Amino acid sequence: MNIDELTSALTERVAQSDNPAEVLRAPEFRELYAQIPQQEPEERASFGQRVNAMKQAVEAAVEARKAELSSVDVCPLDITAPMDVNASAPKFLSAEQGTIHPLMAEMQTLSEIFGRMGFVTEDSREIDDQYHMFETLNFPKGHPARDDYDTFMTVETDADGDPLIAPAHTSTMQNRILKKYRENLERGEAIAAVVPDRVFRNEDLDARHEHTFYQFEGIYVAKGVHAGMLIATLQKFLEEYYGKKLDVRVNPFYFPFTEPSFEFSLSCPFCEGTDKDCKVCGGEGWIELLGCGMIHPNVLKAADIDPNIYTGFAWGGGIDRLVMMKYGIEDVRHFQSAKLDFLEQF
Ligand SMILES: [Zn+2]
Repeated sequence: MNIDELTSALTERVAQSDNPAEVLRAPEFRELYAQIPQQEPEERASFGQRVNAMKQAVEAAVEARKAELSSVDVCPLDITAPMDVNASAPKFLSAEQGTIHPLMAEMQTLSEIFGRMGFVTEDSREIDDQYHMFETLNFPKGHPARDDYDTFMTVETDADGDPLIAPAHTSTMQNRILKKYRENLERGEAIAAVVPDRVFRNEDLDARHEHTFYQFEGIYVAKGVHAGMLIATLQKFLEEYYGKKLDVRVNPFYFPFTEPSFEFSLSCPFCEGTDKDCKVCGGEGWIELLGCGMIHPNVLKAADIDPNIYTGFAWGGGIDRLVMMKYGIEDVRHFQSAKLDFLEQF
């Protein structure tokens, strides 16, 4: 191969290469350099000049190729684009609109149903004090039932020197709601509020337990309120929510802030008690859904409401559970997983 042919072969190689500088280390160069001393003396200078010219031509081609590579018009990568981090290979989201998270959507539905029943919706807090978490709810300091609400605490302390807490139940809002709407009672109206919001527990995670989950609190106070009204209110709500007639039952239970207290169960909205292998109710036909009861007089007193004149009921239940039953979701951890193949079903 003569020098001219070699020059065009190497510049062609440079033009195709993603790493053009490596062509400058091609063995053909070494071979040509090795040939220089072997030339006849009169030929040697011009041969050397031609080799040198070839090298310069290849070097120029390398620079041109480098410039071409750095300016090449590639589709820019948007590193801020959301992607499915759980997919084995990054899967970019299509340009579709997202949807509201299933739990948030169900919380809106829940608020709408209770709104039609005369309940206002109130938000909870993500950090609260032990006064609202326990004291106002008839758990005095040292009460053993405090241990049932194992949650997260801050290093920072409140005025009593107690750590602040991530609320373990939405009941932390009861005292505030009773005070906020106390004037309703003086006007002869009821206090009626629901609190669907986030709560926290120091849980070992499994298919039924999350450290962060959602509860809906209900509170109703007026003159002459009795437990039959509590049961009817919850039954009416659940029948609206599941869109079918349901049986309900209560069993005696214990909570410091209600007296009497009940564990509230509903007939299985999935199998209606007809499937011995039902995954939702375990074949029992009943599902324990929430805790409830008549508000303890001390809770009313803590909000300056006279328990000799007014009575009320309250409940607290898990929203995750309610939604899992509605859609047949088998694992509570799906809600916080951010997995698109789960979320896109809603
Ligand atoms: Zn069932």
